[in-house]
Amino acid sequence: MLQNTARQLFQTYDSFRVTEFSNRKFPSEQFHHIIDELNLPTSIVRTRKAGESLEGRMIKSFSVGNGTTSVLLWSQMHGDESTATMAIADILNFFKQMFDNKETQQLLASLSIHFLPMLNPDGAARCQRRTAQGIDMNRDALALRTPEANILRQLQQELKPEFGFNLHDQELSTVASSKDLTAIALLAPVFNEAKEDNDIRLRAKYLAATFAETMNLFIPNRIARYDDAFEPRAFGDNMQKWGTSTLLVESGHDFDDPNKWNIRKLNVVGILSCLFAITTDEYRQSNISFYNSLPFNEKKAYDVIIRNVIINHETLQVAGGKETPADIAISYQVDTHSEETPLLVDIGDLHTYVGLKEIDGKGKIISSSGLRLGKPFAWK
Ligand SMILES: [Zn+2]
Repeated sequence: MLQNTARQLFQTYDSFRVTEFSNRKFPSEQFHHIIDELNLPTSIVRTRKAGESLEGRMIKSFSVGNGTTSVLLWSQMHGDESTATMAIADILNFFKQMFDNKETQQLLASLSIHFLPMLNPDGAARCQRRTAQGIDMNRDALALRTPEANILRQLQQELKPEFGFNLHDQELSTVASSKDLTAIALLAPVFNEAKEDNDIRLRAKYLAATFAETMNLFIPNRIARYDDAFEPRAFGDNMQKWGTSTLLVESGHDFDDPNKWNIRKLNVVGILSCLFAITTDEYRQSNISFYNSLPFNEKKAYDVIIRNVIINHETLQVAGGKETPADIAISYQVDTHSEETPLLVDIGDLHTYVGLKEIDGKGKIISSSGLRLGKPFAWK
């Protein structure tokens, strides 16, 4: 049943996909303009001001449904992680397009769903992870020193949602030590150091398993589990503690997908499938051991790998051996933050690594004097 729903969502996605995003970097003003242009009927989507960022940018919530089960979804608390924000626009448009559909009606009668997209608009304006105060909002769940974290905390207290979706983009990662890029990573966060289970976390695990089983229809071997270490300052861990069964969804990467359209579509299908499964209670039939068996993320990938170049060690004072065949790895990501400047991060035999972009460097000779690890490296 749920598999059919997921397949249908995957097949019909283009009919409700919001086409106005031209790339994955956009300020909040543009996001709200795109939402306004959708002309979502107020009888379907209830929009309200949730608050303002430090610099006075509007943060809005969007609610659908009138059911007794409350669900809260939030995205982009890290300003440069916009994939799920675009997915939320698609999902709101889905409710407009498919409103009369029987299954949608059933869903809207049993759930009240609240979306809080782009929680960090100041960071989004700068394409940076942190807020205008330079604080990582996801380490501010307890101290609440940012207005943005206060908005999320207040909404959680007001709505007391049974389910939460914590939506992020992750660093370039692979599924365990394979060369398969992680497309989606999932986590039912822990609420204490001992990683214990209670009813709240168990429910989150059922949700994680539902999401994972849905993804397995489309991207087998591309699903990972996110690091499950306890972080007492993070929202996911505290939501779990505050009584909201929370699923962390991390958008990963795909080849030839710089704007993450493919990953955004997977978000939409996974989230909507979970919402339908909560409606029918089918999520309780998902296989937790499948979720538990997902390999963890590892880092066997680089943004760019140039294969089989020849390095010319012109400055080495040795006889012979002045030329070394090698692969070269380049990264745009430092401390989970996407940089514009490419850095040289590895040299040598990199056949166990995969490049998000792979370049054949055969016949290319590079002087070793220009190769400094950790420093900018122009490869284009
Ligand atoms: Zn994040």
